[in-house]
Amino acid sequence: MIDIDEFEAEVDAFLGSRYRPRDPDSDDERADTISRTPDGHDALVDRARELQRALAAAGLSGVELPVEYGGRGLDRRYAKVIEHALRRYDAPSLRPLGIGMHLAAATLIASGSHEHKQRYLPPLIRADEQWCQLFSEPDAGSDLVSLRCRAVRDGDEWVIDGQKVWSSYAANAHFGLLLARTDPEAPTPHVGITMFILPMDTPGVVVRPLVDIAGGRHFNEVFLDGVRVNDDAVIGEVNKGWGVSQGTLGGERSGYMGGSGGGRRRRQVVKAACIAGAMDSPVVRQRMMEVVTAERILELVRDRFVGGVLAGANPAAGSMMKLAAGTLEQRCSELIAGITGAAGQAWDPNDRDGDIVSHDLNATRQARIAGGTHEIQRNLLAERVLGLPRDPK
Ligand SMILES: Cc1cc2nc3c(=O)[nH]c(=O)nc-3n(C[C@H](O)[C@H](O)[C@H](O)COP(=O)(O)OP(=O)(O)OC[C@H]3O[C@@H](n4cnc5c(N)ncnc54)[C@H](O)[C@@H]3O)c2cc1C
Repeated sequence: MIDIDEFEAEVDAFLGSRYRPRDPDSDDERADTISRTPDGHDALVDRARELQRALAAAGLSGVELPVEYGGRGLDRRYAKVIEHALRRYDAPSLRPLGIGMHLAAATLIASGSHEHKQRYLPPLIRADEQWCQLFSEPDAGSDLVSLRCRAVRDGDEWVIDGQKVWSSYAANAHFGLLLARTDPEAPTPHVGITMFILPMDTPGVVVRPLVDIAGGRHFNEVFLDGVRVNDDAVIGEVNKGWGVSQGTLGGERSGYMGGSGGGRRRRQVVKAACIAGAMDSPVVRQRMMEVVTAERILELVRDRFVGGVLAGANPAAGSMMKLAAGTLEQRCSELIAGITGAAGQAWDPNDRDGDIVSHDLNATRQARIAGGTHEIQRNLLAERVLGLPRDPK
C-alpha cells in the first residue's frame, strides 16, 4: 500500500495543478454548495461530476473501494486525505454525488452481488452514473418501517407502485436505492421489505422537483406507477431489505452526515464577529470558543470513527455523529444570526450573498431532519447505548 505521506503529495499535486489554494477567509466554499435556481442546481451537479471524473482519471476517486471494482484498495484514511485536501483548494463541492459515493457504494459493497459491484461501482466512481435514495414516503419518514410502496412479483420481474418523497438529487440520478414492501402479510413489518436498484429512466417513474425552505432545489418527490424491474435488481435477499437499509442509514449518519466541515464553521463565526465589530465581546468570544471546541472534537471523533478505531464499537455511533454535527451546524448559524442582528436579516437584492445569514438560519434546520431526525437519534442512543426502555409506539 502506498505510503500515506506519498499519497498526500500525489493528491496535492493533482489539486494544485487544477485549483488555487483556498483563501481561508473566503466564503467561496459555502457559495459553491448553494443554488436557488434550477440552472444553478444543475451547474453545481455538473461541477461535482467534472471534478470527480478528473479525480477518477487520476486514480483518486473511490480509493477505499476494491481494485476489481474500480477503486484502489486503500483504506478509509486515504479517502480522508482527499476530503481534507479538497477543502484546502478552491475546488467544487462533491456533495451532489454523496449519495452514490457514501450510501450506494457502501450498500453495494456490503450487500450487493458480485455482478452488482462489477456493473455499478466503476461508473459510480467515475461519476458517469449518479444515485439517489428512495426510502422516505409521505407517511413513512421517522417510522420508515411503515412504508407502503409495494413490489409484486410477476414472473422474472417485479411491479412497483408507490410514492417517495424528499429524494435528494433524484432528478439528476440514473439509479435509486429503493425500499418496497414485498410481503404485506409478514408477521412484523420489518420482515417483508426488499431493497431494489431502480433505473430512474424506467417507464412509470415520474420525478417532480420540490423547493426547500431556503430555496434549495435538490429535493424531489418520486411517483412509481406500474414500474417493472428484473429480479436481479434485488440487493441482498427478498424480504430482508430492512437489514440492508440499516447499513445504508448507518453509513449516511456517520459518513455523509457527520462531517465536521474542516474549520468551516469556525471561519464563518469569526468572520461574522469581525464584520460586526463583536470580537471583543466576552459573550461572543465564549460562544465562539464553544463552536471551535465542538467542531474540533467532532473532527477528531469522526476521524477515529471512519478510521476504524470506533467502527463497529457500537451500532449507534453513526447516530452520535449525526446528532453532534447537526446540533453544531444549527448552533453556529444561530450564533451568527445573533452576532449580525438586524444586518443579517435585511439585504440588497442585488447582493448575491446578501441573504447568507438568513439562508443559513433556514437551511441548517435540515441538518436536524436529514438521515433521521434528532429525536429519533436520541431514541436510538437511549435504547441501544444507554439500555433505556424502548420508545412507546
Ligand atoms: C436535507 C434532507 C435530505 C433528505 N434526503 C432524503 C433522501 O435522499 N432520500 C430519502 O428517502 N429521504 C430523505 N430525506 C427525508 C428524511 O429521511 C426524513 O425527512 C426524516 O426521516 C423525517 O421523516 P419525516 O420528514 O416524515 O418526519 P416525521 O417522521 O413525520 O417526523 C415529524 C416530527 O415528529 C418527530 N417524531 C417522529 N417520531 C418520533 C418519535 N418516535 N419520538 C419522538 N419524536 C418523533 C420527528 O423527530 C419530527 O420532529 C431527507 C431529509 C432532509 C431534511
